[in-house]
Amino acid sequence: MDNIALIDLLNQQKTLPLADLTRLIETADEKDRQYAADLAADISRSRFGMDIFTRGIIEFSNYCKNNCYYCGIRRGNGQLERFRLTKEQILDCCHIGYHLGFRTFVLQSGEDEYFTDDKMVDIIRTIKSSFADCAITLSLGEKQRSTYEKYFAAGADRYLLRHETANPQHYARLHPPDLSLANRIRCLRDLRDIGFQTGCGCMVGSPYQTAENLAEDLLFMADFKPHMVGIGPYLPHRDTPFRNMPPGSVTKTLLMLSLTRIMLPPVLLPATTALGTAQQDGRILGILAGANVIMPNISPLNIRNKYELYNHKLGIHSDAQESANILRRQVEQIGYRLRIDRGDYRN
Ligand code: SAM
Repeated sequence: MDNIALIDLLNQQKTLPLADLTRLIETADEKDRQYAADLAADISRSRFGMDIFTRGIIEFSNYCKNNCYYCGIRRGNGQLERFRLTKEQILDCCHIGYHLGFRTFVLQSGEDEYFTDDKMVDIIRTIKSSFADCAITLSLGEKQRSTYEKYFAAGADRYLLRHETANPQHYARLHPPDLSLANRIRCLRDLRDIGFQTGCGCMVGSPYQTAENLAEDLLFMADFKPHMVGIGPYLPHRDTPFRNMPPGSVTKTLLMLSLTRIMLPPVLLPATTALGTAQQDGRILGILAGANVIMPNISPLNIRNKYELYNHKLGIHSDAQESANILRRQVEQIGYRLRIDRGDYRN
């Protein structure tokens, strides 16, 4: 069977055998990728019209107790100046974001134990009481179930926790031994059980990744059925053990976005910052390959360069308003519009 026929079969069955998916990822040429992108963008438009959902990301701490080999804010990076925003600074970001039209705030940080359950609950409750029509997405890493329950009870709506790779041996090559895929997946299952709209996802082109690993990621997602999926290229950071590893490919990332949309039609699928960093028009190409969400940074400008997961990260020099305006113009140029809405998952 040729790749176009495989893409059609994936569309019908919403899954494929591992060997077929691997071959598709390994051998897709430009024509196959364009076919997948057009199909995925059609599926996305039939669900969401020409609307692109927006979320304002607030990166509020770059302290992290973990030492993931790929990540610029890993504990072992002694070159990095660490920062934490205060609750008042986080609320200021929300005010600015609200006026720019954002109705979802994504609070993201390293795994920072300074933010105890009580501190996070207080922040979540305060944002919820000040912005009743907004959703809160958290991206704070691996926690106990009881902690996730407290966040949910306080009013958090969604949680992003990329699984990073669905293959345990590959996971062990990207992370130190104290981190395991089993615990990452335990967290994802807890989050979904508790009632969060839950997001998983992976990097494309992370060191040692094979086409079969990417096929395993797709099959993991077909089984887990996340509400959101974050997929972006791996990009190197100079102060990590993977500093000399090559970046992930933009075209392969776009293919993975398309296959994800085809497999999971209602999923909320961002065109990620890493995609926009790898290539200037990356996020626009992401939308044309099936993405329907964009997540501009609304963190204060003076700390942007300190939340550097990888080098040359997009948006380090433009403030929240400027980032939002640039994106609006780009999105409108291809006939889409940014929607002022919480943009919840709907099946
Ligand atoms: N600590 C939280 C967690 O573990 O989910 C949230 C922050 S973490 C830095 C957010 C995501 O950044 C990770 O899930 C990872 O996929 C991505 N990331 C980290 N380093 C990266 C790199 N060098 N290139 C591309 N993406 C990267």
